[in-house]
Parts: sequence; C-alpha cells; structure tokens
Amino acid sequence: MKYPNLFKGRTAVFTTKHKKESVVFPILSKAGIHLKLVDSIDTDLFGTFTGEVLRSGTQVEAARLKALKAIEQTGETLALASEGSFGPHPTLYFVPANVELVLLLDSTNQIELHGWEISIDTNYAHQKVKSVDEALDFGNRIGFPSHGLVVRPNSGSGKSDLLFKGVVSESELIYAVEKCIKYSEDMNAMIETDMRAMCNPKRMTVIENAASNLLNIMNSLCPQCNWPGFDVTEKVSGLPCELCGSPTRATLSHIYICKKCSFKNEIEFPGGKTSEDPTYCDWCNP
Ligand SMILES: [Zn+2]
Ligand SMILES: [Zn+2]
Repeated sequence: MKYPNLFKGRTAVFTTKHKKESVVFPILSKAGIHLKLVDSIDTDLFGTFTGEVLRSGTQVEAARLKALKAIEQTGETLALASEGSFGPHPTLYFVPANVELVLLLDSTNQIELHGWEISIDTNYAHQKVKSVDEALDFGNRIGFPSHGLVVRPNSGSGKSDLLFKGVVSESELIYAVEKCIKYSEDMNAMIETDMRAMCNPKRMTVIENAASNLLNIMNSLCPQCNWPGFDVTEKVSGLPCELCGSPTRATLSHIYICKKCSFKNEIEFPGGKTSEDPTYCDWCNP
C-alpha cells in the first residue's frame, strides 16, 4: 500500500522563547503544514547555556521532551522542537562547533524525524576580564553588539545571583562589567557570548539550515510505501582504489531502509566518485 502525505494540512506546534520561529517557520511552511507558536512553555526549564539549569539527557532527548510538552499542552498531534549544543567538533579535533537539531514529532503516526546541522562558524567563547577595555576588546572579536553577551562576577559568593544576560549595547556592557568586577572576590568579570538564538545571528543561521535538512527528510519518501523519513541508515566502505582496485575505507554505498515497510535500497557511489585516490589505499600506500 501507498500512504498519503501524512503531514499536509495538519498543525504543528513549536515551543520557543528565543525567536527561533523566525527562521524555522518560513522553511517548514513549505511542507504544507500550519505552524503555531507556543510561547507559554518556559523552554529554559529544559536547560540553559549559562548553567542555571543543566540540560538533562542528550540533545535528542531534550528536543523530544520539548515536543512532547507542546503536544501535551496544546492537544495537537504534531510538534517541532529545536535544541542546540556547543563543543568540540565530532570529527575535527579541537575545532569548536555548533550542532543544531530541529525535531519533528508526530504522535498519531509514531514518527520522529531529525534535521541536523553542524557548523564551525560559531563565536562560542568566554574570557576573564579585569577592565571595561578588555571587555570591549572581547566584544569586538566576537561580533558584539549584533551578537549578545553574558556577564557575571568571576569568583566569590555573589557569583550565583549577579548575572547579566542578553547584553546588546555598549552602555549595558560597561554597567555590567563594572558591577561584576566590584562584586567579584578577585576583581574580575567573566564575560561570554550569549548563545541563546535571539542573541546570536550565527546560531540562527545554523538552526535555519537544520530546519531545511528536516524538510528534506520529511519529503524523502519510501519508494515502496511513501512513508516519510526514508534516509541513510548505513554507510558501506570499500570504494575501490583507482590503481590496484583493492577496497579502501572510502564510502562505496549508502543503504536506505524504510522504517515502516523495511524496503531496502542501496545507492552505489553516493558522492559521485567511482574510485579512490591511491594515496588513501592501504595496499598502494601503506
Ligand atoms: Zn591501491
Ligand atoms: Zn516503506
């Protein structure tokens, strides 16, 4: 049997307090769904970048929790959620990266789809400063004031309650830094990039790309039954060496398996290359 378009005409709820709908909605409206913003849920309860609330579980689990909460609160059956993380790039060592996920949850059809994007164009940074001048230098390097800052005392008992978030003007920055230096035991302020989406245009772009990737996955249908989310489930290595023909570690094919009917498709030479450079051959170039 062939399934009809499972999403078309339905309403998807999206919960954010950080203006992410401004990049997510224009993309996902192309899926033929109605989009509804739910801003009554405090997404900060699921974790903040500034550490007042630690995120529980993985990035996927956090996004899923937000989507489930939105479904529970609105009575809708389709929800979107976005969750970001910052840290070392998964394959490029020591390079900082921003990983964004936009997730779609369909409680009627028991479908969960993921749109991922990894970017190394991130300004994620922090620094201890002992003067306003040092703070302004830091601001110049990370793209302040179009990108916001977070300021707090570097040490001492007042560290936990004094916290300035979303600092986006020079006068606010000067005020915050002077105050935090004054209340810090070591007379230093800790200053960092505000990674909340509405304070961070670089991050907004990565979220937009993750939303595009989700749209592609939603539109990727099983050739046999039309179920959405027909995606690569396995990469098979063994692309032959150009010189000796031995299998190399490079990708030979991608395997797609339908989650509904288990239809399997293997696409050879997914990158367009039919052989590998002998430089990467363990036989020719051990
Ligand atoms: Zn070879
Ligand atoms: Zn199928």
